[in-house]
Amino acid sequence: MYEIKTLGADVLREQASDVTEFGPELKRLTSEMFMVMKRGEGIGLAAPQVGVLKNVFVVQLADGIPRVFVNPEIIETSLEQSPYEEGCLSVPGIYADVIRPDRVRVQAYTEEGKRFTVDASGLLARVIQHEHDHLKGVLFVDRLPETKRERVLRMYKKRYRK
Ligand SMILES: [Zn+2]
Repeated sequence: MYEIKTLGADVLREQASDVTEFGPELKRLTSEMFMVMKRGEGIGLAAPQVGVLKNVFVVQLADGIPRVFVNPEIIETSLEQSPYEEGCLSVPGIYADVIRPDRVRVQAYTEEGKRFTVDASGLLARVIQHEHDHLKGVLFVDRLPETKRERVLRMYKKRYRK
């Protein structure tokens, strides 16, 4: 069973690589990721968060639809941006407003290797961008203004003594 990697783990800072085989192994990975995500009460999870450096993330919002994105690429973002409070299973206990584009167009593959495009807005757009960052080794705290980032990281270190 996979475990969530938390801030400080090297794997969270590495660039993931594309999936090349769309088979049972990929299905196993995504179904485990959904389990880990639900256990942590998250709404999105990227493979590097469970130590797997593959370009895969899963999303499940309140609508209950399980969404899998394999080898995703954000191909368009809106000019309009908004702040929204984010958290992350890999940075437990920390929540902060992050400014991101309101809408994105993402191209990705299903677990079966079928290409699809999604125009996302609202929370889905937010989660897609957050998870996509994980595949590049970027965490949401990296996107905070410097003084705020230092403050939340101090808070985090104090709490977890890392
Ligand atoms: Zn995260």
